[in-house]
Amino acid sequence: MDEKVLIVKYGEVAMRKNNQYIFISRLVSSIRRNLDGLGEFYVVKEQGRLIIESRGGEMDFDKIIPRVIKIFGILGVCPGVKTKDQGIENLKRLALEHVKEYYAGRKMTFKVQARRANKDYPLISNEICAIVGEHILENMPDMTVDVRNPEAVVSVELRNDAYVFSKFIEGYGGLPYGSSGRAVSLLSGGIDSPVATWMMAKRGLYVDCVYFNSPPYTSERAKQKVVDLASIIAEYTGGIRLHIVPFTELQLYLLENVPEDKLTIFLKRAMMRCGQAIAEKSGAMALITGDSVGQVASQTMQAIFAVNSATTMPVLRPLAGMDKQEIIDIAEKIGTFETSIQPFEDCCTIFVAKHPETKPSANVIKRIEAKLEKLDEMLEQALAETEVIDL
Ligand code: ATP
Ligand code: MG
Repeated sequence: MDEKVLIVKYGEVAMRKNNQYIFISRLVSSIRRNLDGLGEFYVVKEQGRLIIESRGGEMDFDKIIPRVIKIFGILGVCPGVKTKDQGIENLKRLALEHVKEYYAGRKMTFKVQARRANKDYPLISNEICAIVGEHILENMPDMTVDVRNPEAVVSVELRNDAYVFSKFIEGYGGLPYGSSGRAVSLLSGGIDSPVATWMMAKRGLYVDCVYFNSPPYTSERAKQKVVDLASIIAEYTGGIRLHIVPFTELQLYLLENVPEDKLTIFLKRAMMRCGQAIAEKSGAMALITGDSVGQVASQTMQAIFAVNSATTMPVLRPLAGMDKQEIIDIAEKIGTFETSIQPFEDCCTIFVAKHPETKPSANVIKRIEAKLEKLDEMLEQALAETEVIDL
């Protein structure tokens, strides 16, 4: 009996030896999660890779592959076939069937590459390559062998079972989710912060997202949009936690007590402080924002300087040096763009000053802030009422 399987290759080097088991288990659960709704599958660990098999149903590679290659830490996947019968006649047949399925009618070069974990196998690797290669040559008149630079490498691997495959479909790479520690990402409903969150999660950071919500000035739909964005990122990470912080009262308090043209700076500082408080609770060591230098009034260097001093944590800004179009290109590639451009209001756009200060002085801001007697209490209140959603 042979069956279609998907062979998943992951970046082993990125996993520290003692943690390897945890990361592999996480990859397995991320795969299961992403395949939910597509059928029943086995995900089997096999010497440095994972094998996905269907439990009875058909393997629909067109549906399965796009979902699997998303997961951070996966280098790529190979659609192939698995068999228990490792006899050379069976391997010849399988390799030929595989080549027919993928390359029939194409004039092209190939080579066979064999590996055997079982050293008692009666043939050595070179003999397997020669026999299987010749069988393909005899039956596929349009194919020729090129051992140096072939268009297709047909792999025959003998492990506990035997595998035949030739295509490698590249994933996003990155490091296994959580392998670099934790950070807290300030996630708005805009285009930028979902991209920033995705980029840092790709570097192996376990990310908690925080959204500052201002009902009734912002709607339930605006909140849903952020939930949707976090869910899209969760497809790459295998899950994500979203904290929704009620910010209306604090925002109204700031509106009454600070100069209007500097309101955004105070608001952003409050966001940083909340982010830090959430980070400290979960053991996170950095904050993430979607700032891009010079993009808007609150992203001038003076504004970034004035906002940054509200936190003692490193603030990761992966988009700092990117143009808007570059950010949009990534947003489209990762699938957040369509959701981000839905026209729902953001908490920063309400009460926004007509002429916001573009060169705020950090000292002036701090002096005003020191007089805001209720600020600490309101921040604590907002944190106490924070809603947590696991996606
Ligand atoms: P984005 O496209 O991410 O919304 P932006 O271009 O609108 O960013 P700003 O409004 O200046 O820029 O926001 C800068 C950063 O502050 C955002 O990228 C995000 O990290 C954070 N931020 C802004 N508003 C919120 C919010 N309501 N909740 C959480 N984070 C926010
Ligand atoms: Mg925004």
